[in-house]
Amino acid sequence: MAIKHGRGTTPLDRLRTQYDRDLRCRECGFEDTDGGWQARTTGDRVSYRHVCPSCGAIETRTLKLHD
Ligand SMILES: [Zn+2]
Repeated sequence: MAIKHGRGTTPLDRLRTQYDRDLRCRECGFEDTDGGWQARTTGDRVSYRHVCPSCGAIETRTLKLHD
């Protein structure tokens, strides 16, 4: 049973969902269907990191929390 928090999804949630669908490695083309982005919050931004399990390429994205 899902718990709703009233205000729906945040921009961060939406972006994260978008990232979860975008796990094809840019280097070797491997699609990491079991993987996910690791998020780390630093100050006013969130850093996402994904390591390709096939070739080890590291992809990073940074999101500002404030527009
Ligand atoms: Zn790869």
